[in-house]
Amino acid sequence: MSNKKCEKGTLLVISGPSGVGKGTVLAELMKKSEDYAYSVSATTRAPREGEQEGKNYFFKTKEEFEQMIENGELLEYASYNGNYYGTPKKYVDKMLASGKNVILEIEVQGAMKVKKLRPDAVMVFIAPESKDVLYERLSVRATEPKDVIINRIEIAERELRACPFYDYVTVNADGKADKCAEDIMAAVRAEKLKPEKMFGLISEFI
Ligand code: 5GP
Repeated sequence: MSNKKCEKGTLLVISGPSGVGKGTVLAELMKKSEDYAYSVSATTRAPREGEQEGKNYFFKTKEEFEQMIENGELLEYASYNGNYYGTPKKYVDKMLASGKNVILEIEVQGAMKVKKLRPDAVMVFIAPESKDVLYERLSVRATEPKDVIINRIEIAERELRACPFYDYVTVNADGKADKCAEDIMAAVRAEKLKPEKMFGLISEFI
């Protein structure tokens, strides 16, 4: 960005139902630009095969997580499918201050909390092309037992209904992850052009 007076990063909240391909979209986004930092969440969920501590999540016990809550270390947290998930605050603020756009990939309850706490966050919802496609994808995910999948479908239905509360919606149809990443970057660019984000510059004009 050329204007030195508005170089603080943008806080970017990404939500979307399980199975919609958020991970693929964000991997594309990170490939396209070095201006983004991914905030690694803490969770009490058990690691899935291939997941790494500090890369995918910070894996915590319930006691450790509750201690983080008590210490005020989390920007937000929520309970999802029987586990805690939360965003460590320190990393987010450090990266924003350094000028990076910080990505929070979080579920709807947490997203709504962030919107209240940080009204200038850009909220993007990644939607599936249809409910049927999403449910089919969730059902064939072999990594989880059936009751977890059924629970995820119920949660997905609830999450889809939250879509209108976001600032932007992008549809991740098959093979469209790249376009979704572009859409997200466009949303962040548009946000940076708002006059209130250019206060340092504009105050010189008025
Ligand atoms: P998963 O168990 O599939 O990795 O994640 C389950 C849900 O938790 C996803 O919707 C994911 O976006 C959300 N999630 C991951 N990290 C956080 C977090 O720090 N806070 C909140 N509120 N949700 C999170």
